[in-house]
Amino acid sequence: MAGKIKKVGVVGAGQMGSGIAHVCALAGYDVLLNDLNAERIKAGLATINGNLARQVSKGTISEEVRQQALAHIKPAEKLTDLATCDLVIESATEKEDVKRKILIDLCQNLKSEAILATNTSSISITRLAAVTDRPERFIGIHFMNPVPVMELVELVRGIATGDETFEASKAFVANLGKTYAVAEDFPAFMVNRILLPMINEAIYTLYEGVGSVESIDTAMRLGARHPMGPLELADFIGLDTVLSVMQVLHEGLADSKYRPCPLLVKYVEAGWLGRKAGRGFYDYRGEKPVPTR
Ligand code: NAD
Repeated sequence: MAGKIKKVGVVGAGQMGSGIAHVCALAGYDVLLNDLNAERIKAGLATINGNLARQVSKGTISEEVRQQALAHIKPAEKLTDLATCDLVIESATEKEDVKRKILIDLCQNLKSEAILATNTSSISITRLAAVTDRPERFIGIHFMNPVPVMELVELVRGIATGDETFEASKAFVANLGKTYAVAEDFPAFMVNRILLPMINEAIYTLYEGVGSVESIDTAMRLGARHPMGPLELADFIGLDTVLSVMQVLHEGLADSKYRPCPLLVKYVEAGWLGRKAGRGFYDYRGEKPVPTR
């Protein structure tokens, strides 16, 4: 079955979807990239182009490989365009209703044997699988950000995910040159279950005035040897995604230790979503990031 994956559809051309399309194309898969409209797909393709160019300038890949990878990716404005895909990875906004609608629409268009995967950071794979016509061919393939750089992929089986789908997904991840870790289907899986409460705690530390944005990030970079401070990392992930994951943990595990920090909610309400919005805990609109608190 694994050998049969030749064409991969990616729904959502944001920071993750474009990264997924990028690594699939580099691994030689044909890729169809979908988003809400042509403009967003174009923006995703531009990101991929820029990131491939960066890899060329760093000497990680050759110019020829960059050209080949780009030739593998085609825009797909409608979900019906994904009918020929062997695997479709949903990587749209982290909102359950958005994902449900995409999955329901996708099922009407896909080949019956196609595998359907989601890159959700936190939502139940079993629950998402239940809205599809193929729970046994549905799986969580959870990439890390930035996709071209990060080695890990979490594989999450829903209650109904079949062995063939699991094996095909393992082979797919290996073909991308990445390593998988298998997580059970519980809210936020493994990496985010551990990482996001730490980020939320860093936001509480800011909210309660224990430290400034800069001092919290410096403290964790130099005091815990984290390559990035937690607030810098939150901006990198996207504060809307951070909030969604905390809400899923809070609701799914019904434990008050996961309550999202009100300051995080405020930033999201302001539209200060981090790097992708130009402003979050830092303001990225100038030459250098400037703390917003
Ligand atoms: P993003 O905001 O950068 O991109 C989301 C994209 O989905 C946008 O381009 C949006 O236009 C598109 N979209 C929304 N509704 C759509 C629809 N109906 N059809 C097609 N496209 C639609 O977000 P992101 O960071 O790329 O996150 C995408 C997914 O990846 C989420 O499920 C998120 O939890 C997951 N994820 C994120 C990270 C991270 O660090 N940001 C890491 C791992 C997984």
